[in-house]
Amino acid sequence: MAGNAATVVVRAPGRVNLIGDHTDHTGGRCLPIAIDRWVEVAGRTEPAGDRVRLTSEALRSTVDVPLDGGEPATTEPEWGRYVAAIVKRTRPPSGFAGTVRSTLPIGSGLSSSAALEVATALALTGGGGAPGPPDLSEPADRLALARLCSDAEHEARDVPTGLLDQIASIYGVAGHGLLLDCTSLEVVPVPLPPDDEVEWVVVDSGARSLGRSAYGVRVGECRRAEAEIGPLGAARPEDCAAIADPAVRSRAVHVVSENRRVLDFAAALRAGDLAEAGRLMDESHRSLSTDYESSTPEVDALCAELRAQPGVLGARITGGGWGGCVVAMVRPGALPLPDRAWRVRPSAGATVTTTAH
Ligand code: ADP
Ligand code: MG
Repeated sequence: MAGNAATVVVRAPGRVNLIGDHTDHTGGRCLPIAIDRWVEVAGRTEPAGDRVRLTSEALRSTVDVPLDGGEPATTEPEWGRYVAAIVKRTRPPSGFAGTVRSTLPIGSGLSSSAALEVATALALTGGGGAPGPPDLSEPADRLALARLCSDAEHEARDVPTGLLDQIASIYGVAGHGLLLDCTSLEVVPVPLPPDDEVEWVVVDSGARSLGRSAYGVRVGECRRAEAEIGPLGAARPEDCAAIADPAVRSRAVHVVSENRRVLDFAAALRAGDLAEAGRLMDESHRSLSTDYESSTPEVDALCAELRAQPGVLGARITGGGWGGCVVAMVRPGALPLPDRAWRVRPSAGATVTTTAH
């Protein structure tokens, strides 16, 4: 029996990584925030139905997949690949029909894809009828959900991303950053300065080129570094000198130094030393641009332009790289918002509201 009908509304936030980029896939550290922009999946179970149908308001199209998920990698329209890969893993016992709404820019680096995955997974499992919906207060359930969504992303688009985006969307804590150790998968909330001391501003550079393939090349370079000196998450800066290939060595230097900067950034925030936290963001950008080579001239120029404004404490590229967004730590009101820019607030993780009929 498929159970009774239920209405479910799930909101899953996007994220901004404040520091610690390209470290998650080698078991390193990062410090994202969930933000006050989200993807919402709202709908109802269809006890007699055998399809999952979701209509995206933003993309003005409908995805319709069977309850085994069908063939995620070739599902059309393309955004249905995420939905199909989630359906394949959650195996809802009955149909579901709903709407996808969003306040996140799509494809700009604020992780609308992970928000879509998390919202869909929770809607399909939290809407009644499914055995054992995830309990978001249970650490094991939260981690299992993050892994399920991350696996779905890999199948949907074949890019070897880490768990950062999904963990931020699920674990977010209002007013806090999430210090994430990608080896232990421990998440420690770190209080951030109040809104009247600091604003977080995200600016979309508008450019995004080669991201997917270059990202995979870098993951491969990090694997080569690890074959020579062991897990980068545990390596020391001096270990990198032993790596023969200069490009591979530079990638490792970025990852190892970035892991250190994440801890230093958390310590600076705890000590209320915003100037030092901003300096570490600038240094992180330099490392990503020079050693990891995941920035672009446009993004470097945008960061420099932001840093030149009074009241900007630090600015860096954030997310997958090769374009996308920049995040700046700013004194409140100091920065007039340019086009395609958002003030974002550190926010709570995904929420589920269910009504049984
Ligand atoms: P980001 O996650 O940074 O926004 P990605 O390229 O990883 O960028 O993911 C964007 C993709 O996620 C879109 O191309 C689309 O397939 C899917 N997506 C995100 N938001 C929505 C939405 N509201 N409706 C339908 N699909 C969405
Ligand atoms: Mg994404």
